[in-house]
Amino acid sequence: MDPLELTSFYPSQGTPGADELTYTRLGNGTWTALEEALGKLEEARATVFASGMAATFATMLALTYDRARVVLPSDGYHGVRELAHLLAGRGLEPTFVDQADLAAVGAALANAPSVLWCESPTNPFLRVMDLSALAELAARHDAPLVVDNTIATAALQRPLEFGATATVTSLTKGTSGHSDVVLGSVATRDRALRERLLTWRAQGGGIAGPFEAWLALRGLKTLTLRARRQSETAAALVSHLARHPRVLRVHYPGHDPRTRALAERQMPAGYGPLLSFELAGGAAAADRAVAASRLIQPGTSFGGVESSWERRARWPAEKAPPGLIRLSVGLEDARELAADLDRALEDG
Ligand SMILES: *Cc1c(COP(=O)(O)O)cnc(C)c1O
Repeated sequence: MDPLELTSFYPSQGTPGADELTYTRLGNGTWTALEEALGKLEEARATVFASGMAATFATMLALTYDRARVVLPSDGYHGVRELAHLLAGRGLEPTFVDQADLAAVGAALANAPSVLWCESPTNPFLRVMDLSALAELAARHDAPLVVDNTIATAALQRPLEFGATATVTSLTKGTSGHSDVVLGSVATRDRALRERLLTWRAQGGGIAGPFEAWLALRGLKTLTLRARRQSETAAALVSHLARHPRVLRVHYPGHDPRTRALAERQMPAGYGPLLSFELAGGAAAADRAVAASRLIQPGTSFGGVESSWERRARWPAEKAPPGLIRLSVGLEDARELAADLDRALEDG
């Protein structure tokens, strides 16, 4: 049974013991249960935060005491890029490179003591990066490698096994899986990093609400099942869309022959719920298609049990082509989804 400890403090007297729960900003029993469950998935220690961005923020702060540069993917998650820009001039120097270009990554790392920040698959093009090669490059330059594992989740990809120092996950997406919480976590086997994360969380205050942690814990029980089923349905829809006359391009891990072997090695159990495709007719056609679906909810975010989609370039900061739609595949029947897609694309 999972504890739901809705309390700001715990009964306590005298000098508190090392693991004693005293005050919820410092520790809460519901977090502990969630952290143990998340830790098991990656054979590591997990630390939960108020959001994926709070987890990212704490990790950047915890890793940049003695290394200013953070080498980030040029097409990484928008919020992470924005945060790195906000921290520029406050002791952190962001450098953005295409991480499929290992020579460019190596050159960026050679410049100064760095942190290598990676995302795979990427968003919204679902490109697969070579985690082992990036870990090797990072090690050669004495840089910790952090992998944002939000899209794949620990059910489908375990970057620590490919040499990453830490994984950052927005639990808001597939890990919780029910689109009802905003939460994040960091997993690492590095004791010193874990201690620093705890300090930044306790003093920075970006803590998880116990109720959100409890909901995430509940979602976690079906993570493996959901990830497997969503991957199967997504793969079927990728084949369907690739044959569709109005679809110009489809993006999904394992779909690009150049990185198929890599995707198989890094994500052996499935490629996850997220795919994207470019529709002929540009922005107007894509907007009409998104509005025409009866099964797929319009909106951002992904990884929920209900399918959702959006035209990515509706966001001003997004560099995707105007007709690119990102689809998050839920748990609906694959044939019904394909039929709904056909109808929506026809209306478009
Ligand atoms: C959503 C997301 C984040 C940020 O997580 P929040 O929980 O929204 O703060 C970070 N990285 C990726 C890849 C994401 O999709």
